[in-house]
Amino acid sequence: MIVNMSETATEQEIQHVIDRVREAGFQPHTTRGATKTIIAAVGAGGRRHEIESLQAAPGVENVVAIAQPYKLVSRQTKPHRTVVHVGDVAIGGPEVVVIAGPCSVETREQILATAHAVKDAGASMLRGGAYKPRTSPYEFQGLGEEALKLLAEAREATGLPVVTEVMGTEDVDLIAEYADMFQVGARNMQNFALLRRLATTNKPVLLKRGPSATVKEWLLAAEYLLSGGNPNVVLCERGIKTFETETRNTLDLAAIALARELSHLPVVADPSHGTGKPVLIPPMSRAAIACGADGLIIEVHPCPERAWSDGPQSLTIDAFRAMMKSLTEPLRRVASGIETIRLGQAASAD
Ligand code: PEP
Ligand code: MN
Repeated sequence: MIVNMSETATEQEIQHVIDRVREAGFQPHTTRGATKTIIAAVGAGGRRHEIESLQAAPGVENVVAIAQPYKLVSRQTKPHRTVVHVGDVAIGGPEVVVIAGPCSVETREQILATAHAVKDAGASMLRGGAYKPRTSPYEFQGLGEEALKLLAEAREATGLPVVTEVMGTEDVDLIAEYADMFQVGARNMQNFALLRRLATTNKPVLLKRGPSATVKEWLLAAEYLLSGGNPNVVLCERGIKTFETETRNTLDLAAIALARELSHLPVVADPSHGTGKPVLIPPMSRAAIACGADGLIIEVHPCPERAWSDGPQSLTIDAFRAMMKSLTEPLRRVASGIETIRLGQAASAD
């Protein structure tokens, strides 16, 4: 349930409602907007009728049910968009944030060269796997702590905040020492023990959508993080399994727009895993931005043919640089109104 306070509600009236929500057996989550305050009563086992009765409390505009099962993730609870800060980088603000780097951290030279190059090309965060979720146990599993140290060194050298995947609860503390943001990989989206543990940290989390997860399941996974106390969540669409075999996964562009419609959380797109094909990464990046994506996460390697994981889908540094240039054309011109979309004219020419 949501208690919408009126514009004129006093601090005392707001506090009274918060106390009553707690008394009724729910957890109060308060969102203070520019003009109005919203208090969400969430949790299981509370006395609903007591919340409904708050309609009569002073300063209350109305009491409504939250339509979606994901309560804190829903835009009903928080109508304005969330901005997640990772170091100096703001994800969910006016700027599209590009996160780039190799699939896996391999060597000092590789990660430092990539970090400098992607920064030079305009990326604002560095990615790199230290613990890799590989389909086969015989494939490279990541360098672990050694890779975390190299990522921290790359951050020192470039100033780029670092995101890296956490696969298990036992690695959370160690990764937290080195990284600026946790990545929850697609295969771990419903690892509820991991989500619960990450909820107790206040480090930002990049939550990838599971390859077979519905948007509702994805948002409910995010709800575990928010309800456990960590509001710094960024959703990541990385492609889902479909019958298509020409691409590695099917990047679900509608899910990007839908997630932003249903939730206040920022959404980024991963066209590298979403397509598996370097040639598709620039057009899908542009498409994702056009759908409202708040950012992109792209795999880049100085020499993809020598990469220890995901080489075939990695962009070379030159290709990444070219892609970054292409992101501003013609979308930026269209978006800023210098160039108008001439749909009407095209139709009348037929
Ligand atoms: C990755 O980012 O390298 C990765 C393994 O991603 P996903 O979990 O989306 O497959
Ligand atoms: Mn990868």
